[in-house]
Amino acid sequence: MADFSKVTIFDATFVSEARELSQFPAAGAPEVAIAGRSNVGKSTLLNSITNRNGLARVSKTPGRTRGLVMFDITIRFAPGEERQAIRLVDLPGYGYAKGPKEDRLSWKTLVEGYVRSREALKTMLLLVDARRDLGEEEVQLCDWLAAEGLPCHVVITKSDKLGATERGLLVKARKEALRGRVSSVSMVSALKSEGIEEVWKKIAYDLRATP
Ligand code: GDP
Repeated sequence: MADFSKVTIFDATFVSEARELSQFPAAGAPEVAIAGRSNVGKSTLLNSITNRNGLARVSKTPGRTRGLVMFDITIRFAPGEERQAIRLVDLPGYGYAKGPKEDRLSWKTLVEGYVRSREALKTMLLLVDARRDLGEEEVQLCDWLAAEGLPCHVVITKSDKLGATERGLLVKARKEALRGRVSSVSMVSALKSEGIEEVWKKIAYDLRATP
């Protein structure tokens, strides 16, 4: 079993931001998409897993509409392994239930279009906040991804906001609620750098399973 505490990121660069399907860059390396409601801690986790503080912008304006942002990284999952290229795809935050209808429609068009058309997309991380209930939108997204045949790993963020007992109970509850719907449920604290190895482990597994 590879030792994921020794993941090395050699390179991480911004590729582009696409607001429409027509703006997607040509596919290159295998892609890992990261989804989640605005303010869930997506930018912070992206920075944490790539070990680059300024890669993704940590937003001060939750709900800001934006496109799908791609980053190319070169990674070695464990000592002795080959380096490999991966593209991380930061999906726009959803949770515009109260926002303008056009925003909701463009999110759906962009994300559904991307997932359906992108051969290079291999797996998805769906981030959910430790202090929020699982929303209907999140459960629907899991079911839709399962129907599309894309692995989905639910990652509970901001675990440092909970005590040890609460953390265990929450993971158990989410696993029960999502059993049969998602590939895994795990928990991270980007703030404390906890759970990051586990995230890489899920990604590495899916990339290896689908060459
Ligand atoms: P995004 O909108 O999903 O990209 O979320 P951000 O990464 O911008 O984070 C939203 C807020 O949550 C910011 O104030 C972060 O500092 C905070 N945050 C992100 N990750 C963590 C974490 O692991 N622990 C705690 N306590 N706060 C976090």
